[in-house]
Amino acid sequence: MRVTCAQCRVELHLDESKMPERRFSVRCPRCQKPIVIVPPGQEAPATEPVVETSASVAELTSLLRELLNSAPAGARANDSRNRRRVLLCFANPDLRNEITSSFNDLTYEVIAVEKTDSAINAMQDAKVDVLILDPNFDQEERGYETMMRYVSDLHPKERRRFYVVVVSPHYKTLDGRAAFIAGANLVVNSADASTLQSILERSIRDFNELYKLFHRAAGIEPF
Ligand SMILES: [Zn+2]
Repeated sequence: MRVTCAQCRVELHLDESKMPERRFSVRCPRCQKPIVIVPPGQEAPATEPVVETSASVAELTSLLRELLNSAPAGARANDSRNRRRVLLCFANPDLRNEITSSFNDLTYEVIAVEKTDSAINAMQDAKVDVLILDPNFDQEERGYETMMRYVSDLHPKERRRFYVVVVSPHYKTLDGRAAFIAGANLVVNSADASTLQSILERSIRDFNELYKLFHRAAGIEPF
């Protein structure tokens, strides 16, 4: 399902099978304006209050399942023989440089691009492990939307091969629900850009931990 922010026109792609059944609102990742989302077939009366971000148990369960399913195959913590490849799609050159230098170049190879077609080419030609985006990337070509659509259109098996990170001044670092809504694995506040590598690694560790807990709980009715 595609929704468009009425204020800044950014387009978000939401997986209908994973969204809450009732209407809800999310903050626009670009301009922060609330966007009300009414799931298809759930056209609610106008008087019904909009629930903002209070996940029900069922939603939380499906969120956790989603996190599980999206734990990337590339999350092998000890595989240092091959450097992880990071694709950076940023409008702001300062932020781009800050993030590039936050990665240890013994373990990460950072490719920074300014244009959407370069980003798509890199996704297709190089084995990208981590895609890091800002919502203002290549606005002329709707770069952010194009990249997020590219990601959401991938086969789940392909999608699981890499980690998607969105960096914005509007996000709280490691906000799991915001990441879920954005279709990302992780969201990071721009102010934390200089420590992005350690935030990323912490996030991947958490995914792995979650995976372990789910295994242990297998066969048990969730929650
Ligand atoms: Zn907006």
